[in-house]
Amino acid sequence: ESAAQAEELLPLLQALADMSSANEASLGKLDSIAGDGDHGQGMVLGSTAALKAAKQAVAAHAGTSTLFDVAGAAWSEGAGGTSGALWGAALRELGTMLSDDQAATEDRLGRAAIAAARRFAQLGEARPGDKTMVDATAPFADELTARLDAGDDLATAWAAAARAATKGAESTADMVARKGRARTHGTASLGHQDPGAVSFALLMSGLADRLAN
Ligand code: ADP
Ligand code: MG
Ligand code: MG
Repeated sequence: ESAAQAEELLPLLQALADMSSANEASLGKLDSIAGDGDHGQGMVLGSTAALKAAKQAVAAHAGTSTLFDVAGAAWSEGAGGTSGALWGAALRELGTMLSDDQAATEDRLGRAAIAAARRFAQLGEARPGDKTMVDATAPFADELTARLDAGDDLATAWAAAARAATKGAESTADMVARKGRARTHGTASLGHQDPGAVSFALLMSGLADRLAN
């Protein structure tokens, strides 16, 4: 099994930044229905800051743990907002789960991604059904766990988990928000997906494509 060095993980962070930019306008529009319209901007600022910090870490010969630690801190700081704090914490969890000394094998990366996806619910104190990104992150973590436990390789398991996240995000259209800013907008968001769930599903689907190649 191949093990990734910190430098080899930069394209994944680059992909997050690229996909955030490509979807900035639509995510902002979605967030303006029952929010403040800044979700696309927050994702771009966060992912761009994370990529920049990660590049600097690699230039300074950092390991995979340090890479995600500094990237997570930069994401929170760069993005601001609720989702930025959660994304930053999730990336820092990757840093906690990985080691600068041990190689980031596929299995370690997969297990770290599960722990990172679980951070969104822990920190946000949201549950499935509250109409937040947790409606995408929880099914993602559940499916990734089930597939890795069943012996799937990371790319196959990730693709299935990303499909579960997309289904989860779609299910939020029928929900009324019980957490976050949208909670104060009553039923305004009915019929529309939660922006944070949509962006999470989009980014995980994009990573699935990279991992497959
Ligand atoms: P803000 O609401 O601060 O402007 P964003 O617009 O960047 O932040 O992100 C909004 C998204 O954050 C929501 O669509 C939702 O998915 C997510 N969110 C809000 N509150 C919570 C929470 N308590 N737990 C998990 N996710 C949350
Ligand atoms: Mg917002
Ligand atoms: Mg905001």
